[in-house]
Amino acid sequence: MELVCLDLEGVLIPEIWIEFAERTGIDALRATTRDIPDYDVLMKQRLSLLDENGLKIDDIQAVIADMSPLDGAGEFLDWLREHFQVVILSDTFYEFSAPLMRQLGWPTLFCHRLMVDDDGRVVDYRLRQPDPKRASVQAFHTLNYRIIASGDSYNDTSMLDEADAGILFRAPDNVIAEFPQYPSVTSYQALREEICKASERNIIP
Ligand SMILES: [Mg+2]
Repeated sequence: MELVCLDLEGVLIPEIWIEFAERTGIDALRATTRDIPDYDVLMKQRLSLLDENGLKIDDIQAVIADMSPLDGAGEFLDWLREHFQVVILSDTFYEFSAPLMRQLGWPTLFCHRLMVDDDGRVVDYRLRQPDPKRASVQAFHTLNYRIIASGDSYNDTSMLDEADAGILFRAPDNVIAEFPQYPSVTSYQALREEICKASERNIIP
């Protein structure tokens, strides 16, 4: 049995915080873990920026509903789901990704949750578990699935490491250089080919 684990942002949809910062004009929301390495500090800053700008969950989702998946992502995912079981492993939040997941036909997504109060203010966030991508692949292995995984960034490398086959997709040069053991591709067609190569079955990409 084979299962494909895919990262979400950078693989199927744009980086949500960066797009969101652009669309709302709130420049400070562009900060990522590269600027603020402590994820908790970064998230607390993001949440207070949302609050300062009076953005409630409905406003946030309305902005995100205007975004689209990456070009070709829908067709790629449809093809993939025809041939493999697919689970998306992401460090995003259900409340953020929902408008984009709707456009992708609601594939299975394991990610985190935002805490929203009765007025719609985003007050906190809850991570599902530590190192969730690796832990998910380990759990799937206990269910006797062989795992093919693909992602674009550092937060995917524990998932790629734990998987039976890992593929980098549109990764930055420093990630490609640091993880030369993984094939690296930039188009959905090439990703299909690599996934088929990694598969134990004979599937036409
Ligand atoms: Mg990503």
